[in-house]
Amino acid sequence: MALTGHAVVIAGGGPTGLMLAGELALAGVDVAIVERRPSQDLAGSRAGGLHSRTIEVFDQRGIADRFLSQGQVAQVAGFAWIPLDISDFPTRHPYGLGLWQNHIEHILAGWVRELRVPIRYGIEVTGFAQDDAGVHIDLSDGQSLRAGYLVGCDGGRSLTRKAAGIEFPGWDPTTSSLIAEVEMAEEPEWGIRRDALGVHGIGRVEYEIRDGKVVYGDKGPVRVMVTEGHVGSTTEPTLRDLGEALIAVYGTDFGIHSPTWISRFTDMARQAASYRKGRVLLAGDAAHVHYPAGGQGLNIGVQDAVNLGWKLAQVVKNTSPESLLDTYHAERHPVAATVLRNTMAQVALLRTDDRTNALREIASELLGMDEPRRRFAALMSGLDIHYEIGEGHPLLGRRMPDLDLVTSNGPLRVFTLLHDARPVLLNLGEPGGFDITPWADRVPPIDARYVGTWELPAMGAVTAPTAVLVRPDGYVAWVGDRTQVGLADALTTWFGPPAAACRSV
Ligand SMILES: Cc1cc2nc3c(=O)[nH]c(=O)nc-3n(C[C@H](O)[C@H](O)[C@H](O)COP(=O)(O)OP(=O)(O)OC[C@H]3O[C@@H](n4cnc5c(N)ncnc54)[C@H](O)[C@@H]3O)c2cc1C
Repeated sequence: MALTGHAVVIAGGGPTGLMLAGELALAGVDVAIVERRPSQDLAGSRAGGLHSRTIEVFDQRGIADRFLSQGQVAQVAGFAWIPLDISDFPTRHPYGLGLWQNHIEHILAGWVRELRVPIRYGIEVTGFAQDDAGVHIDLSDGQSLRAGYLVGCDGGRSLTRKAAGIEFPGWDPTTSSLIAEVEMAEEPEWGIRRDALGVHGIGRVEYEIRDGKVVYGDKGPVRVMVTEGHVGSTTEPTLRDLGEALIAVYGTDFGIHSPTWISRFTDMARQAASYRKGRVLLAGDAAHVHYPAGGQGLNIGVQDAVNLGWKLAQVVKNTSPESLLDTYHAERHPVAATVLRNTMAQVALLRTDDRTNALREIASELLGMDEPRRRFAALMSGLDIHYEIGEGHPLLGRRMPDLDLVTSNGPLRVFTLLHDARPVLLNLGEPGGFDITPWADRVPPIDARYVGTWELPAMGAVTAPTAVLVRPDGYVAWVGDRTQVGLADALTTWFGPPAAACRSV
């Protein structure tokens, strides 16, 4: 039995696992992915796109254009399908992107391959045992791997989570839907239908967005989503089940045939009690599952990966103590808890009895008002994320805006500074005004000028700081106002203790 080793092994090469692998590779960590599927191809289209913050996150790594060039830019944010326009938001990407998950995964896998991460397709993680020094991982091909850390990005039924004995508390389903890609002999009723059973939808996989409206292609597979009459089926759904569910709603099955994908999803809402157990961590659907309303699952999985990647890299390289990993749970658990809460509220608002319809109309009126619209649009697009990093300037713990800076070498966007997934100390005051020599190997200081306003989504204008410490994930760890107070502590907390040779500085 061969035993090879990596600093980190990722179980699962879906969107979360791929993003995490890219982040670790950028940080120079030896990482490998083990993926059960024989290739990156995905049966079915699954997630329909990206929200603004995820596009920003890709922009922080210089890969946003790869997604934007293949998808359809549109206003995609909504709450229980009440649309929320973000076109006036202060971001370079005041929109979302319609792009099916299989395309998103192929783009991410291409990036990960460029970063030379090995992906072992067609192999499953079947079990593991951890000790003080690492994790021994069993694979379905009879081989084993040794890793410093194992990250379970293996989806909602995560073996990693179960084998680690991590609790997955939450709420049982109240509604169940079939989703499929099929051919149809008859022309169906395109679009969304809401009735006593719930919400249903029929559309072609191929579509364009013209003047804000979805225009379906005139041929190709049809994506069907139909709410089932009961909850709790445990068998794999069949074409017959789909036909029966369609007849129950539409009175016909539209002559469905040749399915390429039939699946079931529910509004079960569960979240891992802990995102870490020793040397085993969880991210993405392995850590949280919920109803797809609002299109948030893939987005928060990718963002889990971007929160964890640089922290795990620093721990692997002994730059930071293991306790840095606890900030991953502390920061990301509340984000998914909020998503669970908002999807449960959306499921309730999507019910179709008269009283819920009345409530929905009132919610729609409220969300049409500017302040609630901005707050909920920031929530649903992921632009409002706020990590508890400390009291003070409103930028603390929030996303760093992608400002157009001027440096001695010419114009520079803030996000360009993050392409290598390294932190940056941005000095907008007196050039050379900060001495961070003991961290110079980890945190490059940049002198720049910025003349515009500082504006945050949903919050509006904030006071211009004279310096900002930005983490590799694009969140602000420290804000300076002409003094260096608190900077050494922030650098130590996030990027490790000062280099030994420089401690007296
Ligand atoms: C109908 C529907 C619509 C959706 N729409 C949206 C949307 O519009 N926007 C959005 O953000 N999200 C949406 N989602 C949610 C989104 O699809 C998931 O949140 C996303 O796929 C999670 O990514 P992940 O990488 O964490 O997990 P997954 O995509 O589940 O990937 C897990 C991977 O691990 C592999 N694996 C599993 N077990 C093992 C093992 N033991 N060993 C090795 N490999 C293993 C699997 O093969 C898989 O590739 C939707 C979901 C559904 C069902």
